[in-house]
Amino acid sequence: MTLQIHNTFNAISIGDITQSEFANILKSYKNAQKVVITDENTHELSWPYILTSFEELNTAEVIVLPSGEENKDIEICEQVWDTLLDYDIQRSDLIINLGGGVITDLGGFIASVYKRGIRFINIPTSLLAMVDASVGGKTGVNFRGFKNQLGVFALPQAVFCDPIFLKTLPENEVLSGKAEILKHGLIASAPLWKEMLKFKENLPDKQLLHKAILIKSDIVEQDFNEKNERKKLNFGHTIGHALESHLLNKDNPTTHGECVAWGMLVESYLSVKHNHLSESEFEMVKDLISSWYAPLPISKDDFPVLLQLMKQDKKNKGDLINFTLLKEIGNAEINKELKEDEIEKGLQYIFG
Ligand code: NAD
Repeated sequence: MTLQIHNTFNAISIGDITQSEFANILKSYKNAQKVVITDENTHELSWPYILTSFEELNTAEVIVLPSGEENKDIEICEQVWDTLLDYDIQRSDLIINLGGGVITDLGGFIASVYKRGIRFINIPTSLLAMVDASVGGKTGVNFRGFKNQLGVFALPQAVFCDPIFLKTLPENEVLSGKAEILKHGLIASAPLWKEMLKFKENLPDKQLLHKAILIKSDIVEQDFNEKNERKKLNFGHTIGHALESHLLNKDNPTTHGECVAWGMLVESYLSVKHNHLSESEFEMVKDLISSWYAPLPISKDDFPVLLQLMKQDKKNKGDLINFTLLKEIGNAEINKELKEDEIEKGLQYIFG
């Protein structure tokens, strides 16, 4: 049996996709063209399972993109839009994004802009895409070396999270996805944070996925357009995105989750200094992150460019940089504005 999350903005099924509504949805598109957007890895490892499970997809067009964050790019979108025009895809047709967060971000953006928006379904295949990227309607691409600078809020018709795909996911990508589950625990659920401690070696099961996704979808439900509550999901990301962009620009791509994990550690330190997080809870976060995640190749010389990248973040005002900080494990507060020298002290403490 699949677990369901249905609310205003999300229709998410967690569990065996062959037992889900997916087949019925495909039947409802009987006379429409279906286009699957996938990357080279998920084309090889995930698509055969979907193709053999759903005969309605025998006639689908399949677009295979190169994998990797460096391809979350407007040029790739243009190539896909050209292909959609070649296939004569119309507004009544359907796009299915089958892949990690790069594919769901990119494919969602491609679908929502093409002919002013055609419907799309996400089938996330990475842990990170299941618990975070495929849910909540943020789509987009990187631009001029900055993360997610172009994009729109656009909701998939449905999301199908089937843990079967995690079996082929490389270990470092599993660890990357776990960072976002840890984040959900840190910002909203001390029990989830504690439960994650048991999952260092194991793949999350359906129940754990459900708990993690529910936290995100509840927050999105309260504040779809990110005016307040949704900013909590940015915990770890102000610094994490800067780390991710900087390492990508240095030709040293590092997984989104690893960068977010280290971002969360610096931001936990800032939470002690500027938001009353206790030293003892900070030590717990530090022990976990520094034992699960390999150190990043970041030193003092990188701080100026990291601060520059943080300033580009969409959530800032003037010279102050906006953070979500922890008050305690399971409780986050938004709109904490810090000065560059305060942030640098945090970077120095963790990477100096
Ligand atoms: P990804 O899509 O690059 O996937 C990571 C790697 O795993 C890729 O090489 C991919 O080919 C491979 N892969 C995926 N599924 C696989 C499987 N089942 N078996 C084997 N290999 C598989 O990256 P990601 O970590 O999934 O997502 C990161 C992206 O998500 C970033 O661009 C980030 O900005 C974005 N993101 C978006 C949101 C949002 O709300 N829209 C939230 C969090 C992250």
